[in-house]
This record gives sequence, C-alpha cells and structure tokens, in this order.
Amino acid sequence: MESEKPTEPKGLLQTHELYKYILETNVYPREPEPLKELRALTASQPRAIMGTAPDAGQMIGLLLKIIGAKKTIEVGVFTGYSLLLTALTIPDDGKIVAIDPDREAYEIGLPVMKKAKVEHKIDFIESKALPALDKMLEKPDNEGSFDFAFVDADKINYINYHERIMKLLKVNGIMVYDNTLWLGSVARPESSVPNFLREGRVSAIQFNQSLAADPRIEISTVPLGDGLTICRRLY
Ligand code: SAH
Ligand code: CA
Repeated sequence: MESEKPTEPKGLLQTHELYKYILETNVYPREPEPLKELRALTASQPRAIMGTAPDAGQMIGLLLKIIGAKKTIEVGVFTGYSLLLTALTIPDDGKIVAIDPDREAYEIGLPVMKKAKVEHKIDFIESKALPALDKMLEKPDNEGSFDFAFVDADKINYINYHERIMKLLKVNGIMVYDNTLWLGSVARPESSVPNFLREGRVSAIQFNQSLAADPRIEISTVPLGDGLTICRRLY
C-alpha cells in the first residue's frame, strides 16, 4: 500500500521529482505497515505537516539498528510516527521515554502502537520537555544511561534540551535533532523568509551554530525531511 497522501516535500532537494523518486524507490517500499497506517491516519489532521518525514524516519531507524539502541528518549511525539518507528526498531525489552504535553495527539496514534504490540516499550510523559528532562536527571541512575534521543519539539528550546540530553546519554550515544534546516530558510536572508518561519529560522541558526562549536560532540547534518542533525556524544 502506498501512502494515501504523498508526503509534502520540504524543498531541500534540487527538485520535487527527486524527492518523490527517493520516496517511491527507497522509502515507501520498505516502510513497515504500521507506519504507513499511522501516516495515513495523521494525514487528515490539521497539523499533519509536523509528522516526521518517512525518508528521515528511515535514517533514524538505520541509526537505531547500527548502534543497537535499547533505551531512548523522544522529545516531541505528536501522533507518534517517529515514536512508533523507534518502538518497532528497538528490541522487545527496549524502553522509550516519550515526552509531549499533547496527549490528545499521542492518543490518535496509540491504537496503531497497540495493534503493532509495541506499547509496552513506551513510557509516555504528558509534560513540557524541560521539566520532564530535569526530573529524569534528579534520578542518578538515569545519567549516562540512554543510547539514543530524537528531538522534534519547540525549536526555541533545542539548546536547553541538548544540555540535558548530553547528561542523559551514554558516551557514544546518538542524538538526532529534526528540522534543523527549517525549510531551507537558515540559508536565506530574513527579508526573503515568510513571517511564519522567521522565529524558527533564528532558533535553528543559533542552534546549528552552537552544535558546530560544541567540542563534546561529533556532528553531521543531512538534508532528509526538513534537515536532521545527527550528533554523537564524545565524552
Ligand atoms: N516527532 C513527531 C512530530 C513532533 S511535532 C512525529 O514524528 O510525528 C512537535 C511536537 O512537539 C508537538 O506534538 C508538540 O505538542 C510538541 N511540543 C511543543 N512544545 C513542546 C515542549 N515544550 N515540550 C515537549 N513537546 C513539545
Ligand atoms: Ca519535525
């Protein structure tokens, strides 16, 4: 089954045709059925555009497998595309701490997660991420215990999430930040960027600079979806 509604291109690649080519050749044929179902379910939501792009999702799945991730953090759940992807990829005794103040959106995807029999891996915390991450850090056992984190929430706080996640991740752990190219606006002058993108553009620019200057990590920015920045904790 192909997706009901084509994934919106985010304009980072040379042409829309090229994006369509990647999706149709490499992504959709390998996308697990529950993820297709969740994507179709989400497509009718007014904020469907927020769902993780399936090409970016494929990269996240690959990373999780390469590092053998078992314990992960998800900041920004929405209807749960990246959450379900993670839950399907990690082992049966793996755990995901998933944080989002919007339980309603999570509950849209929850039936698909139950049907896929992965719900037991998910610890959903209905909260803004900063207080939730700080609470996790109050428990010394949590420090340095996570293999992986995916951050896809309010962009203005990415810098703050990064500091917390650096403590929660193991050395060699991987964190992935989504939307770091903000529809390509990071490389355009503010005057040419529509108003609704401006605030996020500034956050993304500042965040990208701070990651590039952070000696504690190794990074790579990949133009999948809306831009993913992959980081490895070095020490
Ligand atoms: N990863 C999701 C998309 C997330 S969209 C997917 O694959 O579908 C962004 C999400 O961030 C929204 O659900 C929103 O409720 C959440 N969010 C906004 N502010 C937040 C905050 N302060 N802390 C945690 N989540 C937040
Ligand atoms: Ca996103």
